[in-house]
Amino acid sequence: MDNNASNFIRSIIKEDLENGKHDKVITRFPPEPNGYLHIGHAKSIVINFGLADDFGGETNLRFDDTNPLKEDQEYVDAIKEDVAWLGYEWENLRFASDYFEEMYERAVLLINKGKAYVDDLSADEIREYRGTLTEPGKESPYRNRSIEENLDLFDRMRKGEFENGQKVLRAKIDMSSPNINLRDPVIYRVSHATHHNTGDTWCIYPMYAFAHPLEDAIEGVTHSLCTTEFEDQRPLYDWVVAECEMKNTPRQIEFGRLGLINTVMSKRKLKQLVDEGYVDGWDDPRMPTISGLRRKGYTPEAIVAFVKETGVSKGGASAVDTAMLEHFVREDLKMKAPRTMGILDPLKVVITNYPEGQVEMLDAEVNPENPEMGMRQIPFSREIYVERDDFMEEPPSKYFRLFPGNEVRLKHAYFIKCEKVIKDADGNVVELHCTYDPETKSGTGFTGRKVKGTLHWVDATQGVPAEFRLYEPLIRDADMASDEESEGKTFLDYVNQDSLVVKRGYIEPNMKDAQPQDKFQFFRHGYFNVDTKHTTEENIVFNEIVSLKSSFKL
Ligand code: ATP
Ligand code: MG
Ligand code: MG
Repeated sequence: MDNNASNFIRSIIKEDLENGKHDKVITRFPPEPNGYLHIGHAKSIVINFGLADDFGGETNLRFDDTNPLKEDQEYVDAIKEDVAWLGYEWENLRFASDYFEEMYERAVLLINKGKAYVDDLSADEIREYRGTLTEPGKESPYRNRSIEENLDLFDRMRKGEFENGQKVLRAKIDMSSPNINLRDPVIYRVSHATHHNTGDTWCIYPMYAFAHPLEDAIEGVTHSLCTTEFEDQRPLYDWVVAECEMKNTPRQIEFGRLGLINTVMSKRKLKQLVDEGYVDGWDDPRMPTISGLRRKGYTPEAIVAFVKETGVSKGGASAVDTAMLEHFVREDLKMKAPRTMGILDPLKVVITNYPEGQVEMLDAEVNPENPEMGMRQIPFSREIYVERDDFMEEPPSKYFRLFPGNEVRLKHAYFIKCEKVIKDADGNVVELHCTYDPETKSGTGFTGRKVKGTLHWVDATQGVPAEFRLYEPLIRDADMASDEESEGKTFLDYVNQDSLVVKRGYIEPNMKDAQPQDKFQFFRHGYFNVDTKHTTEENIVFNEIVSLKSSFKL
């Protein structure tokens, strides 16, 4: 959905404005505050805010908080932070619960019109009476209560005279409708629970299918954009708006959900991962939440560009490869992230012919793809660290890194040659002795001979210790996970126990003041972000954002 490209929702809005049906487009993003936002929600945010912005309209952030049991202020705060971080500004901040009184009055209006009734059937009985796709529903024995009796019972429901589940209010529509949603849906239930916003004012709460169209109509929403699973609810949505005699008539339009392959996304499952300690919070860098992606180091620009590229379709859910999201992250960070060197698994190298006690400062570009970012200085001395797997005592052919007798280039420094391997009593390699050639200094134009390997390194006396966190997918096989019911397993059986690998190494000393959320490209490793949760004065922690290589092509 690139901003200028057309999509079917854009065409509808354009036509409605041209025909004078509306002067101004008003949309809303309506999360339920029962969890943190995930990348799927980003799609809804980009569509709702993006389209309204394009037509000079407005978007409300509205919390769909009609279920007191699952909702919490923590989620409200997190959702606001995430929407703002993605770069969107809401016109009004609203809570569905602010409209409870008006919703109640509209329900009373339905009763007065003979369009709603109080039912004593249990939830199970209501389900049973509802029928199936091939079988019409059966009317409740309470369906023909008088208006007076319904008004009295509904009033007493509000006053708290009934237990949870004892009575509900149902819309009186059509028990034989081919659309099961129209077979007298429940529109109010009793729930003696404290609400995060209205406290104990209410003990009856409107159902989503009744509340949502009213919320939209009250706010003057012109286009109510939602995902395709609500398509069958649209006739009920329209019924509620019409029968409740709302002044504004919003139009519901559905679009396909966004999913990522090999990722669980429902808030229920994500909450379970948090509650049962599989991750260190909703913002764990392995989570597909907006806050998790932020902590991992993804940028709002990359997420928005990715979501736009996935497009807007009428079809059902589409699951996209994570590689596509990673592509946009690399694209965004390429020009922004300073280059640097970090050693994740250190092996000490002593350069035996380099003067003891001498330190020289080497010049290096901060970002060769973006020269405006200037230069940095890197200390070099007699002792450095290289990556342990950049050395092999007995290398296979085509191994161009360090091995006895071989010469390599140290990025931004000199050629060094491996002369001697030092081992401990158990035969483990603990140190390499190398010599360097002063003639080969980087930037001097040395062309005397060529080497094939270029290694990164960090000065051992001045390098700063750091922790690196590398991530693998949290769920091993989400296809298996979706078969959970039939297999008698849950998705938790597919949690990858090795999804987090922690390494301790060294970084260039010029990075010692890096702040949480600073992003770097570590030469030969990939992009890393300074972690917000675990970084302390003494211990800087980096999260791997994305590796350098990609096979993904747009
Ligand atoms: P989940 O099923 O993941 O818990 P939800 O639909 O219950 O999500 P809501 O808080 O109701 O979560 O979502 C707010 C808005 O975001 C809704 O309009 C919903 O349709 C939309 N949305 C949720 N998930 C996706 C998705 N994967 N792709 C696109 N839009 C989504
Ligand atoms: Mg929902
Ligand atoms: Mg949900």
